[in-house]
Amino acid sequence: MVTKYERKFFFIPFAVQLQLMNDNNCPNIGICRLVTTTGFLGDEDRRRSFIETYCTDGEEKWSACKRYIVKNKLGFCPDFVLPDTDLTLDQIIDKFDEIID
Ligand code: SF4
Repeated sequence: MVTKYERKFFFIPFAVQLQLMNDNNCPNIGICRLVTTTGFLGDEDRRRSFIETYCTDGEEKWSACKRYIVKNKLGFCPDFVLPDTDLTLDQIIDKFDEIID
Protein backbone atom coordinates (compact mmCIF):
# COMPACT_ATOMS: atom_id res chain seq x y z
CA MET A 1 0.00 0.00 0.00
CA VAL A 2 1.30 3.46 -0.93
CA THR A 3 1.19 5.93 1.96
CA LYS A 4 0.19 9.59 1.67
CA TYR A 5 3.83 10.50 2.24
CA GLU A 6 5.05 8.25 -0.59
CA ARG A 7 2.43 9.68 -2.98
CA LYS A 8 3.47 13.23 -2.09
CA PHE A 9 7.17 12.59 -2.78
CA PHE A 10 6.84 10.16 -5.69
CA PHE A 11 7.67 12.71 -8.40
CA ILE A 12 10.45 14.52 -6.51
CA PRO A 13 13.98 13.50 -7.58
CA PHE A 14 15.81 11.15 -5.22
CA ALA A 15 18.39 13.77 -4.18
CA VAL A 16 15.69 16.28 -3.29
CA GLN A 17 13.79 13.66 -1.32
CA LEU A 18 16.91 13.03 0.74
CA GLN A 19 17.26 16.76 1.46
CA LEU A 20 13.63 17.04 2.51
CA MET A 21 13.59 13.98 4.72
CA ASN A 22 16.76 14.35 6.78
CA ASP A 23 18.42 17.27 8.55
CA ASN A 24 21.63 15.25 8.86
CA ASN A 25 22.34 15.57 5.17
CA CYS A 26 25.35 17.27 3.63
CA PRO A 27 24.59 20.85 2.51
CA ASN A 28 25.73 19.86 -1.00
CA ILE A 29 23.35 16.95 -1.34
CA GLY A 30 21.05 18.70 -3.79
CA ILE A 31 23.86 19.72 -6.15
CA CYS A 32 26.56 17.08 -5.73
CA ARG A 33 26.86 15.04 -8.91
CA LEU A 34 27.65 11.87 -6.98
CA VAL A 35 24.16 12.12 -5.47
CA THR A 36 22.17 13.68 -8.27
CA THR A 37 23.55 11.68 -11.19
CA THR A 38 22.50 8.08 -11.52
CA GLY A 39 25.37 6.28 -13.19
CA PHE A 40 27.95 8.76 -11.84
CA LEU A 41 29.88 5.69 -10.79
CA GLY A 42 29.77 2.56 -12.90
CA ASP A 43 28.85 0.69 -9.73
CA GLU A 44 25.44 1.89 -8.53
CA ASP A 45 25.69 -0.08 -5.27
CA ARG A 46 28.93 1.73 -4.48
CA ARG A 47 27.33 5.11 -5.21
CA ARG A 48 24.44 4.31 -2.86
CA SER A 49 26.91 3.12 -0.23
CA PHE A 50 28.77 6.45 -0.42
CA ILE A 51 25.48 8.31 -0.04
CA GLU A 52 24.54 6.30 3.04
CA THR A 53 28.02 6.46 4.58
CA TYR A 54 28.90 10.09 3.92
CA CYS A 55 26.01 12.18 2.62
CA THR A 56 23.18 11.36 4.97
CA ASP A 57 24.76 10.43 8.29
CA GLY A 58 25.45 13.75 9.99
CA GLU A 59 28.07 16.49 9.91
CA GLU A 60 30.89 14.34 11.28
CA LYS A 61 30.60 12.12 8.20
CA TRP A 62 29.86 14.61 5.42
CA SER A 63 32.47 17.08 6.63
CA ALA A 64 35.08 14.31 6.21
CA CYS A 65 34.05 13.65 2.61
CA LYS A 66 36.83 14.59 0.19
CA ARG A 67 34.26 15.90 -2.30
CA TYR A 68 32.86 18.22 0.39
CA ILE A 69 36.35 19.40 1.39
CA VAL A 70 37.40 20.05 -2.21
CA LYS A 71 34.16 21.90 -3.04
CA ASN A 72 34.69 24.12 0.02
CA LYS A 73 38.26 24.96 -1.02
CA LEU A 74 37.87 25.28 -4.79
CA GLY A 75 34.20 26.09 -5.26
CA PHE A 76 33.74 22.95 -7.32
CA CYS A 77 34.71 19.30 -7.20
CA PRO A 78 36.06 17.33 -10.16
CA ASP A 79 34.17 14.13 -10.94
CA PHE A 80 37.21 11.92 -10.30
CA VAL A 81 37.19 12.87 -6.60
CA LEU A 82 35.21 10.43 -4.46
CA PRO A 83 34.30 10.77 -0.77
CA ASP A 84 37.17 8.48 0.28
CA THR A 85 39.78 9.70 -2.22
CA ASP A 86 43.26 9.66 -0.65
CA LEU A 87 44.72 12.43 -2.83
CA THR A 88 45.67 15.71 -1.19
CA LEU A 89 44.13 18.97 -2.37
CA ASP A 90 47.34 19.83 -4.28
CA GLN A 91 47.37 16.41 -5.95
CA ILE A 92 43.73 16.87 -6.95
CA ILE A 93 44.50 20.28 -8.45
CA ASP A 94 47.48 18.84 -10.36
CA LYS A 95 45.39 15.94 -11.67
CA PHE A 96 42.59 18.30 -12.70
CA ASP A 97 45.11 20.52 -14.53
CA GLU A 98 46.44 17.47 -16.39
CA ILE A 99 42.92 16.50 -17.45
CA ILE A 100 41.96 19.91 -18.81
CA ASP A 101 45.31 20.50 -20.61
S1 SF4 B 1 29.51 13.12 -1.82
FE1 SF4 B 1 30.33 14.43 -0.23
S2 SF4 B 1 30.00 16.53 -0.96
FE2 SF4 B 1 28.68 15.17 -2.16
S3 SF4 B 1 26.73 15.23 -1.03
FE3 SF4 B 1 27.89 13.45 -0.32
S4 SF4 B 1 28.97 14.17 1.52
FE4 SF4 B 1 28.30 15.97 0.36
